[in-house]
Amino acid sequence: MSVWAILVAAGRGERLGLDQPKAFARLGEDPLLAEPLRRLEESAWVDAIVLVAPPGWEEPAILLAEELGCGKVNACVGGGGTRTDSVRAGLSEVPGDALVVLVHDAARPLLPEAVIERVLAPLSDGWDGAVPGLRISDTLKRVDADGAVAETVPRDSLYAVQTPQAFPADTLRRAAAAGGEATDCAGLVEAAGGRIKVVEGDPQLLKVTTADDLAKIASWL
Ligand code: C5P
Repeated sequence: MSVWAILVAAGRGERLGLDQPKAFARLGEDPLLAEPLRRLEESAWVDAIVLVAPPGWEEPAILLAEELGCGKVNACVGGGGTRTDSVRAGLSEVPGDALVVLVHDAARPLLPEAVIERVLAPLSDGWDGAVPGLRISDTLKRVDADGAVAETVPRDSLYAVQTPQAFPADTLRRAAAAGGEATDCAGLVEAAGGRIKVVEGDPQLLKVTTADDLAKIASWL
């Protein structure tokens, strides 16, 4: 099967407080984007990569991919105003004969090969998508605007969901074309009636939101 990865890296990352977009924040010696790019390039499961760069940063993104020798990068496009629009921009570069699309957040640089394998496996059993998830260990409460606890939410069946997320290419294409918005791709497929399987995630797939996250991930490199 041909697996196309879409690496979404077009977020502004305002909470990092940097002049450049999050994808170009320093992680060790390189821009953050280098780590997930390298890992997708080296993955035995990924045939081709579409890079979705921050608008105006397409050229530095292509240069970085070239410097890293990422021959699987087929296209680099500017992202949209929301994550879903950035995914749509990436999908427009995936050819019609691709069988599977794997969407990954560049903001989760430490991408384990085993997780890629785990999200691809359920597609052979007819699932409409698969996502990595981690059980939630904290107690969850819904809180009103004034800070008062409205309710304690039972956590038994709750998971924090990560990327990479895998889908049959046509399933994700149809769900994205329906025009909705979601904070992850599985949300689009769920809204279209698709069945999504949760597989074991990985704490290393922490998403960089703050400078502390970046420091933590740098210490894991
Ligand atoms: O904003 P959030 O943390 O959900 O971003 C997750 C991923 O989606 C990041 O890798 C970010 O670069 C990407 N993104 C994007 N286009 C946007 C917003 C987020 O590619 N407009």
